[in-house]
Amino acid sequence: MGTTATAERVVLGTGRSSRRALFADPHHPCLGSECALPYSADRGKKSVSRQALDELKQQIPLLDYLQAQDWQPVRPLSGGRWMGLCPLHSDHKPSFLVDPGKSLFYCYGCGRGGDVIRFAEIYHDVKFPQALALLRQWRGLAPLLQQATDFYRLQLHRHGEAVAYLHQRGVRSPELIEHMRIGYAPGGGCLRAWLRQSGYPLSALRQAGLVTSLGYDAYVHRIVFPLEGNLYGRSVSASAPPHRFLPGPKGGLYAWEQVRRHPEVILVEGLFDYAVLWQAGFPQVTCSLGIHLNARQFQQLCDGPRTVYLSFDADANGSGPQASEQLAHRLGAHGIMARRIVLPEGHDPNSFFVQGGDAGQFQSFLEAAQP
Ligand SMILES: [Zn+2]
Repeated sequence: MGTTATAERVVLGTGRSSRRALFADPHHPCLGSECALPYSADRGKKSVSRQALDELKQQIPLLDYLQAQDWQPVRPLSGGRWMGLCPLHSDHKPSFLVDPGKSLFYCYGCGRGGDVIRFAEIYHDVKFPQALALLRQWRGLAPLLQQATDFYRLQLHRHGEAVAYLHQRGVRSPELIEHMRIGYAPGGGCLRAWLRQSGYPLSALRQAGLVTSLGYDAYVHRIVFPLEGNLYGRSVSASAPPHRFLPGPKGGLYAWEQVRRHPEVILVEGLFDYAVLWQAGFPQVTCSLGIHLNARQFQQLCDGPRTVYLSFDADANGSGPQASEQLAHRLGAHGIMARRIVLPEGHDPNSFFVQGGDAGQFQSFLEAAQP
């Protein structure tokens, strides 16, 4: 619907290159060393050598990075290229072209394109040096977190207390456990032993926060959910602090790439709220991991026209309702319709389903939700 035409005008209008040239040449002309404007920030700074940049880009294939952000290729094109929904703007039909061979992207909708560094700049809304820092951190951390996640997932069904806890929180379906990649951290130094055996130095495990300064596994008797660049651990024992994250940001909204195409989304505060809703047949649910959204999560909610249904916990101290009221106002100011779901007294979505609530009843709460 005219998007392509607009994109074409934008690209041609820059006088840099045509779309064809972008993917026909091995390098985007503007990424060449003689180009004055390779990235948006810190022009002319020579602190990062061209070689270091090339190395970083080689170590982080664009497609790997995109998929780690939940991006999914939708349609194959010739030459091993892919089209998918654009993660950088509100996109309803695939306009985001990825060339894995050249590690370049171009969006026919918003007209932006470039390499993995450019992508990180736009996606995380940061300047060039911060994008480099994020990518370097990801390069170091991603394989380690992946290994830890694999290990925790293997442990889940070997530990009765883990499965019992999941049942108690209403998590039953194998599809859900697979979808959320739920695992279990038994503790006792077994993650450390496993990762050391895989060749990771202890210092890397400490730096990632997987192992404490004293050398113990940081997550002990915790259900573990992998997030974007982090791991959330929920204690199954009442004597430990319930929630734990690794050092670093909690990331964006949970499973956002799968949720954002829905015109109506449900936002909950906890992953167990997310779990029961997803299991009950509400794929449009996402989670902010707490009642305070970070800037990125807020920006994601505002990345396209939609209605956001808020269902934060009705805590005794009223912080949940207060936070959802404030969020509804902020969203409204950004042109996003927000509605607040009212659950029966004292319930959050998890306790509602655990105590026998069903999808039909929840649907009626959705329909009754107030602006
Ligand atoms: Zn786009």
